[in-house]
Amino acid sequence: MTIVEIGKMNDEQAREYLENIRWPNDPVCPHCQGTNVTRLKGEAHRPGMIQCNAKECRGQFTVTVGGVMESSHIPLVKWAMGFHMLSSSKKGMSALQLQRNLGLGSYRTAWFMCHRIRCAMEGQPVQQKMTGVVESDETYIGGKPKRNSGKRGRGTKKQPVMVLVQRDGAAVSMPVPNVTIKTVRRELNLHVSKSAILMTDEHSAYIKPGQRFKEHDTVNHGTDEYARRRDDGLVVHVNSCESFFALMKRGHHGIYHSWSKKHMHRYCSEFGFRWTHRKTTDTERTEVAIQQAEGKRLLYKNPCEKSA
Ligand SMILES: [Zn+2]
Repeated sequence: MTIVEIGKMNDEQAREYLENIRWPNDPVCPHCQGTNVTRLKGEAHRPGMIQCNAKECRGQFTVTVGGVMESSHIPLVKWAMGFHMLSSSKKGMSALQLQRNLGLGSYRTAWFMCHRIRCAMEGQPVQQKMTGVVESDETYIGGKPKRNSGKRGRGTKKQPVMVLVQRDGAAVSMPVPNVTIKTVRRELNLHVSKSAILMTDEHSAYIKPGQRFKEHDTVNHGTDEYARRRDDGLVVHVNSCESFFALMKRGHHGIYHSWSKKHMHRYCSEFGFRWTHRKTTDTERTEVAIQQAEGKRLLYKNPCEKSA
């Protein structure tokens, strides 16, 4: 579905669109995972209401229950369009822009919608560890630039953000409290398989944690080395990470203007999601984001818990 096609849907068609993505086969009860269900029709029931027939459950649900769209008063067609807009815009989209484009009642509503969609974009709890060649790098985002301090990047009060990119594959990005051996080790161990070939710059925090992996190779940015071809043909660089951060910074400066530290992880999720699925179409990427909406409400508190 293109954004134009989604925009033409009525409520019922939008519900059907979301249902088909969430449940490619039959509806599954979000309370008990049962599939013996009955659609409740007629005026006595809210549109889209489904009854679970499992004796011990008997729960009722709609397509939005158990996901980031639950308890929202925003029409489903606007949700579907919102998912599409955030999934397809390379540098992201501000809440203000979303509010205008979708004709949402308030900035607050648009803001919550954006954050809920980012919540859906966050990687699944059980994610495959990265393999092959994995690049790791960090940058510093946000905060007012300190004039005359002479400091850039490391050592300033900006928020450090790490990214791990499997070459030609997924990206995972996260804000980190600092770039120490301990932090680097935690993130690498969480996301990268031991069988991977790790590539970083010469930052000393990577030396010890890097020993855990099959190989750890570095480029020395300090001596203006940005890529080096090894004897086996592999090229050592962290250019994928740098492209990722370039995109993120363009979004930060051009679209969002300011990200609070509190919500930085959501923007990291948003950019990581689009990077990971960059080789698919806008339509497919939107559908993945909608699929990932499921179950998120149970896992995350603010702002997913608040209604909009
Ligand atoms: Zn049930």
